[in-house]
Amino acid sequence: MPRVERIGSAWQKRHIGHFIGGDWVASDSGRSYQNRSPWSGEVLSEVAAGDGEDTQRAITAAHLAFGGWAGAPPWRRQQIFLRAADILEGRRTEVLGALAAETGCGRHFGDVQIGFALKLLRQAAQLAYQPTGHLLPSDVEGTQAMAVRRPVGVVAAIAPWNASLTLSGRAVVGPLALGNTVVLKPSEESPYTGGALWAEILQEAGLPPGTFNVVTHAPGEAGVVGDTMLASPLVKRINFTGSTPTGRRLAEKAGRHLKRVVLQLSGQNPLIVVRDADVEYAVNASAYGAFMHQGQVCMCARRVYVERPLAEEFNARFAAKVANLPTGDPSDPATVVGPVINEWALALLDRRVKEAVELGARVLAGGVPAPPCYPATVLTDVPDEAEIAQGETFGPVVIVEAVDSAEDAVTRANASDLGLAASIITGDAHRGLRLASRLDAGIVHVNDQPVNDEPHMPFGGVKDSGWGRFGLGFAAEEFCELQWVTVRDQDRTFPF
Ligand code: ADP
Repeated sequence: MPRVERIGSAWQKRHIGHFIGGDWVASDSGRSYQNRSPWSGEVLSEVAAGDGEDTQRAITAAHLAFGGWAGAPPWRRQQIFLRAADILEGRRTEVLGALAAETGCGRHFGDVQIGFALKLLRQAAQLAYQPTGHLLPSDVEGTQAMAVRRPVGVVAAIAPWNASLTLSGRAVVGPLALGNTVVLKPSEESPYTGGALWAEILQEAGLPPGTFNVVTHAPGEAGVVGDTMLASPLVKRINFTGSTPTGRRLAEKAGRHLKRVVLQLSGQNPLIVVRDADVEYAVNASAYGAFMHQGQVCMCARRVYVERPLAEEFNARFAAKVANLPTGDPSDPATVVGPVINEWALALLDRRVKEAVELGARVLAGGVPAPPCYPATVLTDVPDEAEIAQGETFGPVVIVEAVDSAEDAVTRANASDLGLAASIITGDAHRGLRLASRLDAGIVHVNDQPVNDEPHMPFGGVKDSGWGRFGLGFAAEEFCELQWVTVRDQDRTFPF
């Protein structure tokens, strides 16, 4: 099998092979594809185009590595994650450049991603020393009972491009830290920052060969990789972060294989501004929450509901702020709104905004594409039948709507099939908490905007936004089995 050489120390234009069993390898088929920068259009890397064969090889490697890794002493696991954090920290500037070039990620969001990944690794290091079970009282005299947490074996991870470093990181680091081995399939849009980069870092940190594997694939060819993961009896769990339609397809197939999946899917996240809110604070929070990473974060605010007495002032100030957000080159630290990920995403945004306008919506800011960017855009009077009002539109467009009361906003928000993140801005934090308890959302922030994540928090949605929780404190429920074990002397009397 040919070994793919990574070219030079610069990450650009390198060949990206699969990372299987500790080796960088080409696809069995020999095929590759070119990944391009969403900002400049230049070819960044020649990437191995994997298929079912390659996926199978990675699963086998992970399966073979499982026993050794699951039995590794805690100090060894701890050291690897701590070392990985130091390696990532040392590569910060280079990684920021890679995130900007590969995914159009600006400086601020790049720092957020690296900050998250560093905490993730350092918190994962101490997972190694967490208790691995409970002693349980038993009514059977002389029996000692316990619930013992055991890693499941091979975990497959499917991650998106938008927060490539953090979303791939959380998909693999928790399962690894709990003693599982992993096969990661990054998005075709982020094979480096969402895949090969993690392999480089974990390999250098000393993770044993086969413990972590990465399989890349050409655009449009994710299905065969995912299907191989789903069908393999060696894969015990799958975690998926991406859109609701793809997650639904995956869950349907997983059902056939009786395979447990963690699904973190789309959001149509509401931000509610109560009439006692500080308007400037609400405007700033809404702008940040809606346009962070040009609206390409699953938690981004998509709908801002403003209680009527504040609506006019809020709309005017929000539109003025949004119209002036610096737009353009993601490698310029001043840029707020960089390019959207690809032409398809740009065309979808344009089409959905135009459709909303044809149905009666008004554009308060933005609304005219500036390829490869779509400007930060505010719409109002958007009818419910407009596509943009119905599901997630991944990009820098937000809808504002005046409501008679915050309770009405909760009702409007809950009418969505999606329930990922939500937020409430109010001068009365207790009222905020009461409203939060009525919102159908996996995550609610009072007096903040919805884009927040920390590695130890229970991250996930309700309804069609998915099920299961990422978050290191909760990962054990998803990526371990609980075994009931009893032990006693040979002194029990049996009735027959
Ligand atoms: P996004 O809009 O974020 O690209 P997707 O749900 O399409 O959302 O993609 C998220 C991840 O799911 C990516 O890694 C993508 O390659 C992968 N994916 C897309 N289609 C499938 C599929 N049929 N099976 C498995 N993974 C898939």
